[in-house]
Amino acid sequence: MGVEQPLGDNIVTASLDGLVNWARKTSIWPMTFGLACCAIEMMATGAAKHDLDRFGIIFRASPRQADCIIIAGTVTKKMLPVIKTVYEQMPEPKWVIAMGACACSGGVFDTYSVVQGIDELCR
Ligand code: SF4
Repeated sequence: MGVEQPLGDNIVTASLDGLVNWARKTSIWPMTFGLACCAIEMMATGAAKHDLDRFGIIFRASPRQADCIIIAGTVTKKMLPVIKTVYEQMPEPKWVIAMGACACSGGVFDTYSVVQGIDELCR
């Protein structure tokens, strides 16, 4: 109570169980979709050491059950239509996370065959 007074309306109190369960209930379910070395790091976060499952983040093998796609790795122009198809198969609302320099900007691969950022898909 002493803490709430100086902070006014800017504090919410809840039980830890309540917060953890809320986080689990509203967790994203990402699509499994790896493109290059960043995908290895994405997989590592889902594996035993970091274990995303404990937060309710469960990778789905079908785009129809996923609400988020993590673009993890270098996007080649050959792969772009495949990514677009998978994205379009996901139900609304849906989100995209560009993971790493390659997915965001092409990274060090400033070549004819590499997409210079996954946001090019929207252009
Ligand atoms: S940013 Fe590119 S080169 Fe670096 S780990 Fe990710 S995919 Fe590999």
